Amino acid sequence: MNDCLFCKIIAGEIPSEKVFENESVYAFKDISPVAPVHVLVIPKVHIDSSNDISRENVHYVSEIYLAIKEITRELGIAEDGYRVVSNCNDFGGQTVHHLHFHIVGGKELGWPPFNERV
Ligand code: AMP
Ligand code: ZN
Repeated sequence: MNDCLFCKIIAGEIPSEKVFENESVYAFKDISPVAPVHVLVIPKVHIDSSNDISRENVHYVSEIYLAIKEITRELGIAEDGYRVVSNCNDFGGQTVHHLHFHIVGGKELGWPPFNERV
């Protein structure tokens, strides 16, 4: 857990561009944006991935979605719309193993978000 990049960002040991913070949630700009708006929203406790959401910690997910509502309104993308993505483990493309939700917006996004079909 001490080796976790996002725990270090929460602790202020690694710099980040904060866009929102409260008791449970921290949000900051993605360092490598894929759209005009690309923000990461994370719980202030370490949870590896969506596989590790439980009855005990699920309130962080509610808090994250309330934060998403505030952040998207603040950034002016709520009305046009945006996408929330959480990648899980290898097949999902998760590279940082601290649960996080990408807010992607500021332009019209394609769907599906991958090229292959079943
Ligand atoms: P994922 O691939 O879903 O695990 O998302 C991890 C995200 O973290 C990627 O979009 C990276 O660009 C982003 N990222 C990695 N390091 C940093 C950092 N130091 N500050 C901000 N975003 C980062
Ligand atoms: Zn962590």
